[in-house]
Amino acid sequence: MLYDTHIHTRFSHDSRMNIEDAIQKAQEMGLGITITEHIDLNYPDPAAFRVDIPCYLAAYEQYRSKTVLLGIEVGLGVEIATKNQTLIARHPFDYVLGSIHLVDGIDLYIDAFYRGRDKRQAYDRYLETMLDCLRCHDTIDSLGHIDYICRYAKFHDPELYYSECSDKIDHVLMALADNGKCLELNTRRLNKKSVVENLIPIYRRFYELGGRYITIGSDAHTPKDIGKNFQEAWEIAEICKLRPVWFEQRRMQYVATQ
Ligand SMILES: [Zn+2]
Ligand SMILES: [Zn+2]
Repeated sequence: MLYDTHIHTRFSHDSRMNIEDAIQKAQEMGLGITITEHIDLNYPDPAAFRVDIPCYLAAYEQYRSKTVLLGIEVGLGVEIATKNQTLIARHPFDYVLGSIHLVDGIDLYIDAFYRGRDKRQAYDRYLETMLDCLRCHDTIDSLGHIDYICRYAKFHDPELYYSECSDKIDHVLMALADNGKCLELNTRRLNKKSVVENLIPIYRRFYELGGRYITIGSDAHTPKDIGKNFQEAWEIAEICKLRPVWFEQRRMQYVATQ
C-alpha cells in the first residue's frame, strides 16, 4: 500500500477538509494517509498557521489506525528551532514533515520576497535557508516540497533546475542523506511533464549522495487532491531508485516491494 503523507484538514489555517471525507477518498484510492496539519510558529500574523495540537490529536484519536496516521507539517526557521524541537518532542506524532514556507520572515507566496532579487539570488537565499534550518532541526523525518518556491516565484521560468543551483542543492541533499532523513516528493506539480523532468535530476542526485528514502505527499487541502499524481511520483521513485516510505510512531515503514 502507498501512503499519501501530506494532507491538510480543518485544523490547518487554509483547509476546511473533514477527516471523514479524506478517509473515504483514501479508501476509494487504496491509499493510507498521514494527516499533516500546518504550523508556522514564525508566521508574521500570529493568528495564521497556528494549530491547537492537543485539540487536533484528541479530536482525531478515534480515527487513528494503521492506515490513518497523525503527523504535523512544521514550518522551519532558525529563530524558532528550539520551539519547534520542543513541540515535536512533546506530542505523540506519527510523522514530522519539516518545510520552508518563510525566508527572512517573508512568506514565499508574497511578492516582497522577490523584489530586488533576481532568480539566482532568490533561489540561493531559499536554499541557504533550507540548509541552515536542516542543521538545527535534526528531529524532522522528511523535508517537505523542495520545489515549494516554484509555486509562487515571480519569474518568467520559476522552475528549480538542478544544473542552476547544483552546489546549494547538493548541500541540502547531503544534510538529509548524512542524517538518514527522507526527502519528500510533493506531487502537487507533477501533472506537468516538464516539472517531472526537472525534478528527476534532483531526486537522482539525492540517491547518488546516499539518500535512499522518500515520502510521497499530495499536500491536499480538498478530498479530490488526495493521491493526485501518485503514478508520476511512483515512476520518479523507480527511475531514481528511491524507496517510498511512511512513518508510524516516528518509525519508518516500507512499501512492500512490487
Ligand atoms: Zn508546506
Ligand atoms: Zn502542506
